Amino acid sequence: MIYFDHNASSLLLPEARAAWLEAEERFPGNPSSPHRLGARAERALEQARERVAGVLGCSPLEVVWTSGATEACNTVLQHAAAMRKAASEGRGRADAASNVWVSAVEHPAVRESARVYFGERLQTIPVRRDGVVDIGWIEERLRRERPALVAVMAANNETGVLQPWQRVHEVCAASGVAFFCDATQWCGREAAAGLGACDFVAGSAHKFGGPRGVGFLKSASGVALRPLVHGGGQQERRRAGTENVAGVLAMVAALEWCERQIAAGAAAERRAWRERFERELVAALPGARVNGAGAARLWNTVSAVMPEADCRQRWVVKLDKAGFAVSTGSACASGTERPSPVLTAMGLSASEAGRALRFSAGWLTEEREWTALVGELVRVAREMSGASVEGGREGERSTLNV
Ligand code: PLP
Repeated sequence: MIYFDHNASSLLLPEARAAWLEAEERFPGNPSSPHRLGARAERALEQARERVAGVLGCSPLEVVWTSGATEACNTVLQHAAAMRKAASEGRGRADAASNVWVSAVEHPAVRESARVYFGERLQTIPVRRDGVVDIGWIEERLRRERPALVAVMAANNETGVLQPWQRVHEVCAASGVAFFCDATQWCGREAAAGLGACDFVAGSAHKFGGPRGVGFLKSASGVALRPLVHGGGQQERRRAGTENVAGVLAMVAALEWCERQIAAGAAAERRAWRERFERELVAALPGARVNGAGAARLWNTVSAVMPEADCRQRWVVKLDKAGFAVSTGSACASGTERPSPVLTAMGLSASEAGRALRFSAGWLTEEREWTALVGELVRVAREMSGASVEGGREGERSTLNV
């Protein structure tokens, strides 16, 4: 199988696998146990904290292990809501500091938890047509209001569009407003240095070659983080539950390996492969378009609106049969599911958003695999356009010219 779905879950890196196996052997104890095996596991976690803090640029005490980014995001939103509630009770009124500002392109882990914890106090930060957050909107609003929290992700999971999180952090810090950056798709692909300056940061191992079910939250040291998960005193009472020692060590091994690739400049060549793929795709399939084409994007991600041929689920099934794993990124055009809020926020119609496919590579993806993918897309497009003409069904007639 040629795998182009690394934004959903990247493949386990050999370095992460080796670290996981080694940790299971060396650290079998519960890190909270009083004996030497427990202490050894606890020390391993402390060292892992130092390593993650070294990559992000923060204090090791600010790193909290979680089950992944969804938990980290929920923790931040429920913490901010609890702080807001306490503050507005103290003031005896609810005001603008009771709101949360969340970008229109956030992952549901942020968007949905903001809705749950803030309800009508959720305000959406618009994005431009290229998918980049409207920084002017934030700057202008901050002159008049101070929300409880601003959440803008680092890189988008559907389009790969990079957000100016450093600038958003700067303007929030200047106004004394807490800033949360969901860096789940950024970490392991772009250098994570500097993220540690944000008040809150979420990351997830399985997006960068670590195992599934483990992640981290950076929570600034001045923050008395309200736990989301209760039932134990682990991690300074910030997250109850026995830590996933082997998972954490495998995650750190994967993160450091990725950081070495980035430092060695390995992303530039891969970005060129992605760009060539995009040029060939658009040239071969009239009507195909790359989402966020004008913006800086992750080197590994392409989100493309496919020509009007058929429901994209058919593309996915046909590509799957041919040995390529790709993703729709979100819903099908058939009308049974909602179109992607990310793509509609960028101005795409429901029908265009319904024709989007996402291709996402990993560090070990080779140039010839991108070439094979574009070849296969052209073949499938031909097959589908032929099929719909043969079938003669109006709704399925294709406008493909391949
Ligand atoms: N945030 C972003 C940007 C994501 O892409 C994802 C996963 O797709 C998540 C959060 C949730 O991550 P996890 O699978 O670790 O819960």
